[in-house]
Amino acid sequence: MTRKDRTEGILTRKEVLDQSERQKYYQIQLKDLLSYAYRYSEDVKKRFDRAQFYVDKFKTLGDLKHIPILKKKELIFLQSMGPRLGGLLTKDLGELRRIFLSPGPIFDPEDRTDDYWGWTEGFYATGFRTGDIVQVTFSYHLAPAGLMFEEPLRNIGCSVVPAGPGNTNTQLEVMQKLRVTGFVGTPSYLMHLAQKGEEKGLNLRKDLFLEVAFVTGEKFSEKVRSTLEKKFDLIMRQGYGTADVGSIGYECFHKNGLHVSNRTFVEICHPDTGIPLKEGEVGEIVVTSFNKTYPLIRLATGDLSYIDHSPCPCGRTSPRLGNIVGRVDTTARIKGMFVYPHQVEQVMAGFEEIKRWQIEVTNPGGIDEMTLYIEASSFKREAELLHIFREKIKIRPELQILAPGTLPPQVRPIEDKRTWE
Ligand SMILES: [Zn+2]
Repeated sequence: MTRKDRTEGILTRKEVLDQSERQKYYQIQLKDLLSYAYRYSEDVKKRFDRAQFYVDKFKTLGDLKHIPILKKKELIFLQSMGPRLGGLLTKDLGELRRIFLSPGPIFDPEDRTDDYWGWTEGFYATGFRTGDIVQVTFSYHLAPAGLMFEEPLRNIGCSVVPAGPGNTNTQLEVMQKLRVTGFVGTPSYLMHLAQKGEEKGLNLRKDLFLEVAFVTGEKFSEKVRSTLEKKFDLIMRQGYGTADVGSIGYECFHKNGLHVSNRTFVEICHPDTGIPLKEGEVGEIVVTSFNKTYPLIRLATGDLSYIDHSPCPCGRTSPRLGNIVGRVDTTARIKGMFVYPHQVEQVMAGFEEIKRWQIEVTNPGGIDEMTLYIEASSFKREAELLHIFREKIKIRPELQILAPGTLPPQVRPIEDKRTWE
């Protein structure tokens, strides 16, 4: 059987708008959304009025920053505030197609429009094509994932095996008998299928027929990706989104970041102030999807990343999110500055004599103190380390040099021992 070409092709013209068209497109979509939401969502009206934000004054994309960010955590409380999910919705619950419940607990409304969750272009970019037989291994009840990921497959013209999670032996049998070509699920479940399949004596490349996999929901390493791609002889790409808004980004064949989905406008912001940061700086992903039913304008996801506007060989012109480098709530704010473990790791990478490290934060007398512990047998570059550290992280730590093996085996990058009593 000849394989389909899954490496090229663009689904819609929106994906290849040139820069000025793209700016205009965002401008029109946002203006339209803001006007509509202000008119029909009680919560948006309250929020805009409180911030004295007037939709008429929205002239450039930069004006969006005058709307306060909406923290995902706030949704739980807001949704309990009255009908139409606390006024966040612009229509009645009975006019929706489905209502899900995701952890939090937060209700996730799904409207009756086509491609509501916006994953179709992402699935096409991953490599799904008409005629594929796809096994969806996400749960189909309460949480939206299973049904959410069926929608793009239906649009592309694939047939779906709604397998849901678990029953690994049955999953493998179905894959073999139906000659399933596509997988949708978490990377760890695909790895589990590989291991179980090998235990059963299957040749994953000959007895199974997988050619493409869309994964999401977990971080994974490039090593895991290449292992799975080799084991099954498939293309594996990931998507990034939330149960509130659906698709936010997805990888193309060239896997150099996540193309921002064309149904959203994404900003990278300072987690406290909501002010957009410069290109390349790490901050919180703040997303506005062009969804008039459930207009979560400037939803702060709690995920940390950065944005890249450089061209991609695939031809798609949307900006790309880099890796998700962490969560806002696991990042320590020390002396008012955010300290991200990956930034510390970058500093340490320049000192090969440092075997392991840990940051400890305390606040004797209510004042933050940061100690950087490093393990090294003989360390002579103290001044250089402190200089680079302060340049990158903006704080000068107390440095403590330890003998190798002193830190506990499972060391947390940032140990926050502060108390507030
Ligand atoms: Zn690309």
